[in-house]
Amino acid sequence: MSSKYAERLKHPKWQRRRLQIMSAADWKCVRCQAADQPLNVHHKLYRDGAEPWEYADDELVCLCEQCHENEHRDVFTRAEVLKLIESALAGAAKKFDDLLARNNEFYDRLFGEHFELLRVVDELRLKLLPAEERKALEAHKAETLKRMREHTQRVS
Ligand SMILES: [Zn+2]
Repeated sequence: MSSKYAERLKHPKWQRRRLQIMSAADWKCVRCQAADQPLNVHHKLYRDGAEPWEYADDELVCLCEQCHENEHRDVFTRAEVLKLIESALAGAAKKFDDLLARNNEFYDRLFGEHFELLRVVDELRLKLLPAEERKALEAHKAETLKRMREHTQRVS
């Protein structure tokens, strides 16, 4: 809190506003219900350029000193929030990279085994086909391979 802001809290308009909030709360802390503790009026949020008394009833809350202190422990400045987000994102990005690296390794292996399995199945199927169909299929495969090679040569 800047010293300029602390200065604004001495303004009679704030003095009146905080008494309104305290009165509406029946002179008790709304958190712990303490009625025998010094009371503060806490801003639930801060708006740039707004005077302390320029806040709606539901943006202000009557708290005892202890509860007020606890409340402020959870309040972060904009810079702190950005820093938290930044570090969380950096951590998440690192985890994602690790995961991706492990996944790639896994899929390389999986696909390797998968293709090997497909090759074996294909071979078996060829062997089980009637001779004529097998010949036709082998011819088709050879033709496809030839075209693929030609295409690769044209491209490279
Ligand atoms: Zn309290």
